[in-house]
Amino acid sequence: MSTAKAYAAATKDSPLAPWSFERRAPKAHDVQIEILWSGVCHSDIHQARDEWGGSMFPMVPGHEIVGRVTAIGDHVSKFKVGDLTGVGCMIDSCRECRNCNRDLEQYCEKGPNYTYNSLEKDGSPTYGGYSYHIVVDEKYVVSVSEKLPIEGVAPLLCAGITTYSPLKHWKIGPGHKVAVLGLGGLGHMGVKFAAAFGAEVTVLSTSPNKEADALALGAHKFVVTTDVEQIKPYNNYFDFILDTVSAPHSYDNYLRLLDNNGTLIFVGIPPVPMEMTCFTLLGNRRSVAASGIGSIAETQEMLDFCAEHNIVSDVEVINMDYINTAYDRMLKNDVKYRFVIDIASLK
Ligand code: NAP
Ligand code: ZN
Ligand code: ZN
Repeated sequence: MSTAKAYAAATKDSPLAPWSFERRAPKAHDVQIEILWSGVCHSDIHQARDEWGGSMFPMVPGHEIVGRVTAIGDHVSKFKVGDLTGVGCMIDSCRECRNCNRDLEQYCEKGPNYTYNSLEKDGSPTYGGYSYHIVVDEKYVVSVSEKLPIEGVAPLLCAGITTYSPLKHWKIGPGHKVAVLGLGGLGHMGVKFAAAFGAEVTVLSTSPNKEADALALGAHKFVVTTDVEQIKPYNNYFDFILDTVSAPHSYDNYLRLLDNNGTLIFVGIPPVPMEMTCFTLLGNRRSVAASGIGSIAETQEMLDFCAEHNIVSDVEVINMDYINTAYDRMLKNDVKYRFVIDIASLK
């Protein structure tokens, strides 16, 4: 066992504050990772404030982790001490069900063991990346290239894979018109990947001040969704909309923008059930779909793609004690475009 310094939420109403807990010593297949950078995902806010229900406290959020291996178990074969590694949203899964056997363990039929706000197989609570170190089975750890600025790599472990995976699944590329709805952590990675895959990319945003950034990130067009005149020409226009919005919004207004057979893909997870009308869906034979993170194998594929194409997240580095302010700023759509905690500030 070793003590991990961390920041935790004690209850859904408390700000995050310093806390310590014990991590296990590495077992035969485990690697111990000294965390260097930890990204801040809107899912951290949803869970720390128990917006999805079922949150467990105390909670140490954080599932966009990059760090160096400091110890390995006797049977570890993928990693050695000193390797640069990443941990995303899952630290285990049942490894037996159909989805686990299809390299789709993010859809494990028994539910993956998530990096925090979840349980290990032995029933002990999981604690995430806002902490000094983490111990994870090597099967759920990915390799990180030394080539890229690593603070920009951390957000790839969730925001990156969550947008890469649906774009790949729906084979989005040249000839497709894609809208990315919401330019935050997920949205800005969605823009980078969709542009890299050769699609025409439009950002749909409530924030007029994000236009220059959207175009610099690779978008071809930018539309302020609150301006009726701006959005009118885009009725029946898009093949896909990647909806990354964290709060409830008017789904029919966006469905109308889809062309024949167009698909609205949800990756954002607002905490309340969504309402839409069948008439808007059946016009143009539209579809609605959703996608959750990505598998470990696909996460490695995405990281390798990013290393090859020089893709990282645009980040604002913060110290650990800035986290509550960072949450407040994210809720005001004031993030460019991912906060990443310098975990050295915790030590
Ligand atoms: P974020 O950085 O806070 O960005 C969300 C963006 O949504 C905002 O920047 C804003 O963009 C837009 N937005 C916010 N409130 C809005 C509203 N009321 N109406 C319209 N647009 C609004 O959040 P994130 O980290 O990217 O996460 C986004 C969502 O994805 C969260 O719900 C998170 O839990 C979820 N998520 C899902 C998965 C998955 O596996 N599916 C994985 C990770 C995260 P503009 O300023 O451009 O309007
Ligand atoms: Zn996340
Ligand atoms: Zn499974």
